[in-house]
Amino acid sequence: MWDGAFGPIEVRRIQPYQALKAYICPGCNRDIPERTGHYVAVPTQEPDLRRHWHYSCWDRRTPSKGIR
Ligand SMILES: [Zn+2]
Repeated sequence: MWDGAFGPIEVRRIQPYQALKAYICPGCNRDIPERTGHYVAVPTQEPDLRRHWHYSCWDRRTPSKGIR
C-alpha cells in the first residue's frame, strides 16, 4: 500500500469551504461529502497518491496508537 511506503506522510487539514468534491475515505470506504472538513494525507515522495480521510478515520489508523 501507499501508506508509509513513499516517505513521510504530510497531513493537511481541509476546511469545509475548501472541499469542493466528494471523496472516498480509505479508512472506512465511505463518502466524505463535499463541504465537509477532512484530512488529506500526501506521501512526500509520491504526492499523486494522496488520499482524503475523515478526521476520525485518520486518527484511528495512526501507527503510534497501535492500529495497523
Ligand atoms: Zn472514513
